[in-house]
Amino acid sequence: MHADQIRVSSRKSAAELMSHVAVARAFRYFETNADKITAEQIGICSVPASPFGEEERAEYLRQKFSELGLTEVEIDEEGNCLGLLRGASLAPLIVVSAHLDTVFPRGTNFTIVKREHKLFAPGIADDGCGLAALLALAHVIQNEQMPIAGSLLFVGTVGEEGEGNLRGVRHLLTKGRWASRVDAFLSFDGPGLDRITNRALGSRRYRVEFTGPGGHSWGDFGMPNPVHALGRAVSRLAGYPAPKDPRTTFNVGRIEGGTGVNSIPSRATMEVDLRSAAEPELQRLDAFFRRAMKDAADEESGTRRAGDPALQFKLDLIGERPSGETPSDSPLVELALEATRLLGVEPRLDQSSTDSNLPISLGIPAITLGGGGASGCSHTLDEWYDPRDRDKGLKRALLVVIGLAGLKK
Ligand SMILES: [Zn+2]
Repeated sequence: MHADQIRVSSRKSAAELMSHVAVARAFRYFETNADKITAEQIGICSVPASPFGEEERAEYLRQKFSELGLTEVEIDEEGNCLGLLRGASLAPLIVVSAHLDTVFPRGTNFTIVKREHKLFAPGIADDGCGLAALLALAHVIQNEQMPIAGSLLFVGTVGEEGEGNLRGVRHLLTKGRWASRVDAFLSFDGPGLDRITNRALGSRRYRVEFTGPGGHSWGDFGMPNPVHALGRAVSRLAGYPAPKDPRTTFNVGRIEGGTGVNSIPSRATMEVDLRSAAEPELQRLDAFFRRAMKDAADEESGTRRAGDPALQFKLDLIGERPSGETPSDSPLVELALEATRLLGVEPRLDQSSTDSNLPISLGIPAITLGGGGASGCSHTLDEWYDPRDRDKGLKRALLVVIGLAGLKK
């Protein structure tokens, strides 16, 4: 089953779904249990989850999934936490996900501090908000015994941030036991309720290393210098005429190399981030970048003395996120647009780099939504979340989830 059959089930409009008695009860639950939902969020965000260190939080979520009565609950080979909410049929199968990882390293203090309406903690909104939404959705669908036609696979993914490189969702959709059965994919990431991320921002990240024999700054002058080569490389890249539309960007984010002012270094490295809203532009930038690195190395080697070895360089792809989109007139996006408007909010289509990049690249309809509430200072130690009005985000989430799965009378 794929897009066409989802089209059929989502024909039941979000407005129709809202009139279902179980949905009305679920809406009331979101309104009257705001504190309970926030307490769940505090519980899960208090458990540390660093990049490549999500095990403890995954285990916590596994217990929650079991308590909620989900079946097939497991932590897969990659570290994702999975739980199935079985409807009348296993198809369509809808993934309802949020990411377990934060950007913060091991040893970070994940204690939550409450001041007035705000909760402060690293990762409290990104993606504590999404994880709390998963638990609240599973709770109401299960407790109200909503007669869903398809099934929901709830997933806390690993490796969404930075060098995690979408390893969790990649495993889930390409190698995991449910891989070939997923018909649509939802990611709840961060707060808010107007945003519908249907376009995937593609990126490539490289570590570049220039190496040579090194030597004395005076005695060996003329020997190819890795830092000089790196400088030539940065200069070439900085001259790239990046288009504004589709937005295309590049960044040398880190450079390193050398041992002292009077030594020709033997090694220099840099880390580079390339992005574009469109895949062909990303490929063009990527090709330019690769050629610039080679030309910089050749140019530096070209000045060497007879008998000196040429400079070596190495490119390592350390991150790759595909770009693409779930079309704005696709049934999934139309359902999300309608659900947002039903809650009195004007929706906004958006482009971002999220777990949805991966399903979109595989042709699986996917969007990323906010889980309600507000936040600020994301990816910093001052990150905060304000849960007021979260219920609207959860109501929208519920309409989209059951709209996809289909609801029997
Ligand atoms: Zn996130």
